[in-house]
Amino acid sequence: MGELSCWFECVRGCPGRHSIYDVIYQCPTCGGLLEVVHDVATLAETPADAWKRLFDARIHSNDWPFGSGVWGKKEWVCPQIDDENVVSMFEGHSNLFWAQRLGQQLGVEDLWVKMCGISHTGSFKDLGMTVLVSVVKQMMSQGSPVRAVACASTGDTSAALAAYGAAAGIPTIVFLPRNRVSTAQLIQPIANGALVLALDTDFDGCMAIVKEITQDNSVYLANSMNSLRIEGQKTVGIEIVQQFDWQVPDWIIIPVGNLGNVSALGKGLMLMRELGLIDRLPRLVAAQAARANPFYLSAQGGFQELVPVVAQKTLASAIQIGNPVSYERAVKVMQAFNGIVEQATEDEIANAAARADLTGMYACPHTGVALSALFKLVERGEIARHHRVIVISTAHGLKFTQFKVDYHKNQIDEVEARHPNPPVELPPDINLVRGIIARHLDSVA
Ligand SMILES: *Cc1c(COP(=O)(O)O)cnc(C)c1O
Ligand SMILES: [Zn+2]
Repeated sequence: MGELSCWFECVRGCPGRHSIYDVIYQCPTCGGLLEVVHDVATLAETPADAWKRLFDARIHSNDWPFGSGVWGKKEWVCPQIDDENVVSMFEGHSNLFWAQRLGQQLGVEDLWVKMCGISHTGSFKDLGMTVLVSVVKQMMSQGSPVRAVACASTGDTSAALAAYGAAAGIPTIVFLPRNRVSTAQLIQPIANGALVLALDTDFDGCMAIVKEITQDNSVYLANSMNSLRIEGQKTVGIEIVQQFDWQVPDWIIIPVGNLGNVSALGKGLMLMRELGLIDRLPRLVAAQAARANPFYLSAQGGFQELVPVVAQKTLASAIQIGNPVSYERAVKVMQAFNGIVEQATEDEIANAAARADLTGMYACPHTGVALSALFKLVERGEIARHHRVIVISTAHGLKFTQFKVDYHKNQIDEVEARHPNPPVELPPDINLVRGIIARHLDSVA
């Protein structure tokens, strides 16, 4: 195999290649996003079966950095980076479990949940951040003017950036919408030593500020308009297929906000098909919160245009985004994957998560959005009993304790809790306790 490399090109097809070590986020000709392009011809010199064997052999190995779910596919992700500049916390290889009991209740026998929140900082954002921060480390080692990394965040991006920045010893600046992220998400970058700027605005407002700040080449922009993160995140679809012994599922359902993750999911699966590891594609379902649904509205109009909205406050705070940056890439993916866009109300989100929890999960609100979409597609008969369905759980439920607390108190606006399970408070009286247990066991019998 020849020397592998990747580079930036304009997603809209303007001519020109840019080094991944250049400080550049947009096409200098048209202002569109850049994407990382790989040398597919050289990658294709390796037969599909050899790739499968190589990737399987690396799982959980301690051969740095290949034990990571992202770096185990280094040749496809970011081949030219020096191994000593990789900043990894062995992200990826997340749990994919058979949601047998929930599936049984729905009449879907082959339902699986990909637990991307079981990761270093508790969300899938780690998959992308390991790549971005590694590239920055390599740039800095080569004498680049970059001195710090920065992002605007709905909570999980900043947690991931702060952790990987701290692991690399790179100063990190995060912009958060004040009072709109969970306590866990706020404390993560604080603990990791980032400069945390809580602004009196929403995510889109933070994004505008960070774009200005990063005009100066000394601060590197880590938002998902930076395509390096897509390269790491694209391993999620590859990993799902790998976990099924290289078989393609029928459906993958994913909650979406800025539309980077669904673009990444599509990109990884397309690369697998190009290199002959799979011969068909799953159908994709992108799920939005109804209170922040510009992609859903655009899909209703056949993706003619994106009309940005002012995103309303939603339980699914990580996807409270009104002007998604990766819109164009995501439209291409939906078209290639015969995709469907769904939406979920606050009531549907909270009750879907609670229903799943009763079968042993601990779903974050975004996973609730994806589960709501699943329930709707099953009801409409689009998803059938024998279909293999994967729901992508994007974050760990433990990051959203207040959401669960409020739900079980039935104290969420616009939500009628259908599965509340408040604790029973009572004096330490054995007869009272016996009575309550007996009634409980009768009621669940
Ligand atoms: C970032 C995030 C999303 C949305 O991903 P996009 O790339 O913005 O579409 C969904 N769920 C969680 C928990 C997230 O942190
Ligand atoms: Zn361009």
